[in-house]
Amino acid sequence: MNKKCIRDLSIEDLTSFCKDSGQRPFRVRQILYWLWRKGVSDFDQMSDISKEFRVTLENNFYFDNIKVDSISRSSDKTTKFLFSSTDNKYFEGVLIPDKDRVTACISTQAGCALNCAFCSTGKMGFIRNLSVGEIFGQVFELNQNCKKDFGRYLTNIVIMGMGEPLLNYENTIKAIEHVTNNDGLGFSPQRITLSTAGIAPKIKNLADDNIKFNLSISLHSADNKIRSSIMPINKKYDLETLSTALSYFYNKTGKRITYEYLLLEGINNSLEDAEKLAKFTKISPCKINLIEYNPSDSDIFSPSNKQKQQSFIDFLESKNLVVTLRKSKGQDINAACGQLANKKQ
Ligand code: SF4
Repeated sequence: MNKKCIRDLSIEDLTSFCKDSGQRPFRVRQILYWLWRKGVSDFDQMSDISKEFRVTLENNFYFDNIKVDSISRSSDKTTKFLFSSTDNKYFEGVLIPDKDRVTACISTQAGCALNCAFCSTGKMGFIRNLSVGEIFGQVFELNQNCKKDFGRYLTNIVIMGMGEPLLNYENTIKAIEHVTNNDGLGFSPQRITLSTAGIAPKIKNLADDNIKFNLSISLHSADNKIRSSIMPINKKYDLETLSTALSYFYNKTGKRITYEYLLLEGINNSLEDAEKLAKFTKISPCKINLIEYNPSDSDIFSPSNKQKQQSFIDFLESKNLVVTLRKSKGQDINAACGQLANKKQ
């Protein structure tokens, strides 16, 4: 018989399995508690479930556990985790400590198909979507390690690691539900941000699904020609299509949108680029995170000249936009934005 992954079951599926196995209804809650609150990795850890029923579960289901393969620590305390799946696929998560917070950055795919020019993950190509359990498992592991290393649990989660989350929509949404549900980790959705390269139809789905977490757009240019040259996905969903999807999202959810913008010297850091960005972001109330570029291996890009960077910021602020300059962390261990490529340090 083909076993199913226990973490892929819906509550309805689990309920009917328990019922068909002659179990009382409270058994479902018990199993959910072990899976999503305690993050157990085998049926024997479900100590309040009879040995007999644990064997039944074992005969019908398996776990998609993830393993920490290696840990790299940066001089700024950013810590990168290389995870592996049961079928030996690799993906990364990062713990980023800051003054009063520790953020976990997690992956939704092994590799990525979108091939953004500035991103190391894109160069790996697409390997496969991560399962609900593999996405949830990263949060669980990082939360435990956060407590161990920094004496506190995670304060924030960003879905900005490897892969395009909206191309693994269902698994990503289900994993977030288990992270936020009271039966699961009970994490506030207000403290979760999902970042997309701009998969316009799926942004509309997020609005229809009335998500409670935050949305961030990896924009990097508000000019179609430039954006298409560094983010090929723009050829499929150009800025006009993206803008329509974002208006729809804002009108339905009322949520402020964040834009991520890597400053690349000579590519997107002129005043003209800032003007286009200010115009594009008029769609809704928003926040702009400017990111200093991390030079990585075999580079064709370089970080923005500091003076141009300041003029860019000054221009946006003169238009009353909320702008933050993000210094990348974890550069020495390839854990910074766009550097995740399963490289051990
Ligand atoms: S930046 Fe994101 S969407 Fe683009 S290639 Fe990298 S992982 Fe994929």
